[in-house]
This record gives sequence, structure tokens and C-alpha cells, in this order.
Amino acid sequence: MSKTLLLLPGDGIGPEVCAETARVAEWMNAYGQLNVSLDERPFGGAAYDLSGSPLPEETKAAALASDAALMGAVGGPKWAGSPRDKRPEAGLLGLRKAMQVFANLRPALCFDALADASTLKREVVAGLDIMIVRELTGGVYFGEPRFIETLPDGQRRAVDTQVYTTHEIERVARVAFELARGRRNKVASAEKSNVMETGLLWREVVTDLHKRDYADVELEHILADNAAMQLVRNPKGFDVIVTDNLFGDILSDEASQLTGSIGLLPSAALGIAGAPGLYEPVHGSAPDIAGQGIANPLAAILSFEMALRSSLDRADLADRLFAAVKSALDGGARTRDLGGSLTTRQMGDAVIAALER
Ligand code: NAD
Repeated sequence: MSKTLLLLPGDGIGPEVCAETARVAEWMNAYGQLNVSLDERPFGGAAYDLSGSPLPEETKAAALASDAALMGAVGGPKWAGSPRDKRPEAGLLGLRKAMQVFANLRPALCFDALADASTLKREVVAGLDIMIVRELTGGVYFGEPRFIETLPDGQRRAVDTQVYTTHEIERVARVAFELARGRRNKVASAEKSNVMETGLLWREVVTDLHKRDYADVELEHILADNAAMQLVRNPKGFDVIVTDNLFGDILSDEASQLTGSIGLLPSAALGIAGAPGLYEPVHGSAPDIAGQGIANPLAAILSFEMALRSSLDRADLADRLFAAVKSALDGGARTRDLGGSLTTRQMGDAVIAALER
């Protein structure tokens, strides 16, 4: 049965990198036995310009009806002065909320050919392949109460609330255990159970779930501050890391810097099994290079690789696409962010040529 991939090109370099991803998907449809119908809708600033909303109803409906939505990027100086609820970023938050994607997957991968581009030593990062699973819809970024108040003595006081339920912890931990089974079968669960009640509950829930359903997976509990340290000391010691929204925000950004250019980093946001996933490069709309045809499309193409694996039931083609990206890089294909001179289109060509080999 045909699956649907919804493209949301968005703004800036979004349409440029999405176009190369669509070419890869179309190539697979034509030659690789993929059966995915491609749809495309306006999103972000581009949608606001067309219709007055960064997330038009028909775009939201198409995303909810799809198997996977692949976004380019949204935002840019053009919309910086728009009303807060009409900004491109509001469209993205609205879409994540509508799709109920609670698990954010951020792989940190270091391609051998680029190991020298990392700020860490080659031997520490070469061959790195870890996956950070960040809880995306709960925790301190959403907990109530949250406010700033003025006290009787004139001081101001700010409050945020870190809050998690067993259900929220268990469903994201389940995603991590399932992923680990398809990888090196190891999960590190990071929290601060030494000083936080939510950390204590997090550890208990993950331990229970492990005992109940995932005893075959190796589980390690690690304090989040230690995880931050180990990520730069010995990142290859990790396979899958699962953690809350705040720690995940920080640890995934730290991990992304192990790997070279931002133009290479994909991500996925997943909801309950069977619901559509939202796939997006980690980078933004890069207004400084938009329209020049020089953006690196690999983060978007690797986001499609994640979609093949997690939403389109084609792990075989995901493996093939990953190998093609690796082969293109091994062959010296480099856009400007990687120190080369290929255009966006030429990098797309290099990946398709590697798929053809
Ligand atoms: P950015 O990621 O767009 O750019 C940071 C730097 O990295 C720039 O120098 C840019 O040229 C470079 N870069 C980014 N992607 C690249 C690629 N694929 N190839 C080559 N170089 C690349 O971050 P920013 O400049 O802070 O933000 C620009 C806009 O994007 C802002 O409006 C911001 O709100 C938005 N943004 C959107 C998302 C998203 O859509 N998820 C994420 C981050 C930022």
C-alpha cells in the first residue's frame, strides 16, 4: 500500500534542501521499489505570506493524514516583526503539538571522511554513531505554574515547574528501548535522581519498564551532568541516550557539535506507534546563504533516511541511502560548509549517483 510523504519546504534554504530530498525520494520511487506519494504544502513564513497563517488548516490536516512529514526550515528576518502567534516558529510549535510528537530523536553521527572537521580528536569521534532521545512535550518547558512575580521587598522571583508523569516517562523510554534493539542494544537513561524528585521517578519508571518489557536491552542509569562529561570524553561508549526535555535540549546540542557541520544533522519527532512522524534538519533557514544554491542538503536527506526507517517501513532503503551519503562523502563530495565547492544540486547529484552504483 502506498505511503504518503508530506513535504513542508518552508523558508530560506528550506525549499532548496527539500527539493534535493524530493529528488532522492523520486529516484527511489522510479528505481528502488519505493512506493511513496509525495505531497507538498505551504508552511512557515511562506504560508503566512500566502494565507495569513504559518500553519494553514489544510497543511495541518495533510500532515495528520500523512505517514511522515518532512520539513525544510522556517523563519527569517522577514517575519521577525509579525505578531507572535503568526511567526513561522509558532507554526512549527503548533504542528508539533497537533501531531503529538513526544520523542525527539537526534542522531550524532561522525562520518569517517569528516572526522577531522570535529573539534575533538579524530580517534574520539571517528565512527561515532549515537542516538539521543529527548522527551519533547513535557518537563520544565511546559510545567505549571510558571511566572515572574514581584515580592513585597521589591525583589523579583521567577518560577518554572519541572513535572513528569509515569505515562510521559514510560512512552519516551519505550521509544529508546525499541530503537536500541535495532542498534547496539544499549540504553543510557540520564537524569538527576540525586537531587530531583522528577529524576527519582524517571529512574524508577525506566527501571520498571526495563524489567517488564526490555530485559534483553542493556540499561545504564547515568546522572545528566556525568552524561555531559562522558559525551566529550568517550562519546562512543554510548548507543542510545534517553532523557528529559531540558537535559535533552542541552545534551543533543552538545552531541551535535561532535560531528562537524550543522548541515549534516537530521532529526525526527515521533508520537505513538503508527502516528505520522515529523522529520526535519536541525539547522534553520540560513537567511545568510538562502537563494544562492549552496546549502548542504544532507541534513534534509538524512532526515528522509530517518523517515524511511521510522515511518515508511523501509529500513532496507534507509540503509541504502545512508550508505550512499557515506559513499558520496568518502568520494570527496563537499558543499561549502564542509570546505568544498559543490552546489546544493550537485550534492544531491552525488547522492543519487552513489545510489545508482
Ligand atoms: P541557521 O541554522 O539557519 O544558520 C546558522 C549558520 O549555519 C548560518 O551561517 C548558516 O548559513 C549555516 N547553515 C545552516 N544550515 C546550513 C546548511 N544546510 N548548509 C550550509 N550552511 C548551513 O540558524 P540561525 O541563523 O540562528 O537562524 C536563522 C533562522 O532560522 C531564524 O529565523 C531561526 O528562528 C530559524 N530557525 C529555524 C529552525 C527550524 O526551522 N527548525 C531551527 C533553527 C533556527
